[in-house]
Amino acid sequence: MDTRLSALLSNDASALEARELLLSCVHCGFCTATCPTYQLLGDELDGPRGRIYLIRQLLESGRSSAQTRVHLDRCLLCRSCETTCPSGVNYHQLLHLGRKLSGKLKPLPLPQRILRATLRGILPYPRRVRALAAMGRLARPLLPGKIRNKIPARQRRKPLPGTTHARKVLLFQGCVQSAVAQGINDATRRVLDRLGIECLTVAREHCCGAVPHHLDAENQAREMARHNIDQWLPLLRDGAEALLITSSACALEIQEYPQLFTDDPALEQKAIELLQHCQEIGSFLHKQETKNLQLAKPRSMAFHAPCTLQHGLVSAEHTTDLLSRLGFELHVPRDNHLCCGSAGTYSLQHPRLADELRRNKLDALTEIGIDCIASANIGCLLHLQETSPRPVKHWIEWLDEILEQQSARS
Ligand code: SF4
Ligand code: SF4
Repeated sequence: MDTRLSALLSNDASALEARELLLSCVHCGFCTATCPTYQLLGDELDGPRGRIYLIRQLLESGRSSAQTRVHLDRCLLCRSCETTCPSGVNYHQLLHLGRKLSGKLKPLPLPQRILRATLRGILPYPRRVRALAAMGRLARPLLPGKIRNKIPARQRRKPLPGTTHARKVLLFQGCVQSAVAQGINDATRRVLDRLGIECLTVAREHCCGAVPHHLDAENQAREMARHNIDQWLPLLRDGAEALLITSSACALEIQEYPQLFTDDPALEQKAIELLQHCQEIGSFLHKQETKNLQLAKPRSMAFHAPCTLQHGLVSAEHTTDLLSRLGFELHVPRDNHLCCGSAGTYSLQHPRLADELRRNKLDALTEIGIDCIASANIGCLLHLQETSPRPVKHWIEWLDEILEQQSARS
């Protein structure tokens, strides 16, 4: 798609990058059919091709309108369209640039800026999330049902392995996950202990940066990434064999750190070095000898593959192959490619659309008729747990629980 930049944007680095990315789109519209927001709203401008046209219009006119921003912001950044696109359009980067330019040309209304600043000021910081969750639990009886459902129950923690092993990995803790779903990291430590692998944690690591990045706060995301790289790389150079991430959205953000530093060759190089060590937990275990994790008898599991796992990292098959190998009978819900509506902070910014997507996803997951529902990303888990009639957990929590029961019986 050839684009002539408006004089106002002719020297703007983001506009020049967006123009390059637009070149690979051939307007075929294949992507529209697999876009969740197009399916819900039926408006071409709420699908990928329509949004691409809006970005092109913005680049050519040097103007953005409130309506343009509405359509760009309704995008979940689920990347389902990228999986479908035959021309390999780098849609997510194009959308980031489109939102950035739209914000420059027409700043967001004040209430939206306040909401975004609040989310950016709380969610990436575990202590603040923990304090908010604790206050929410105290006030729970007074809160309306919808907000009450958003407050995660306090998790009872089980003992952690005390054994040290020669094989060591760094285990990324995550911001929201370490505050309200510590059971995922704990289960990971116990599962890896069964394979003779010890998990190290880095006390001073930050949020991966995905939360601010989704909220178009690139500088905050860059600062978090820079800090994390400086914390992790020395330990990885010192012998820790991998940086493991249990939440697929965080794994994707870290995998894409080099894209944050294209203007800083030294940092970009460090981010590329980090990539050699960074692994999503399913992909890591897929490569390991796992006979110590074998289930004694088959167990059915309905698996929701997060968009960041199937469309972003493109590694959902590593997890499903691994789980099948361990003895799970996996059931994939219909419309597996569609987002559950969590999408970073989307469920807080667009609750009506997010609720509808969740309802569809839970219908598809529960109609399978299995009690064991699993996913692989903290955002999807918290979002689905809010209204699911059946338990939804990270697959590694299910695995840990079943292995523990097996050990207790033997
Ligand atoms: S990222 Fe998802 S919601 Fe956004 S245009 Fe692509 S398919 Fe649609
Ligand atoms: S499928 Fe790809 S090339 Fe076709 S319209 Fe969508 S983004 Fe453009």
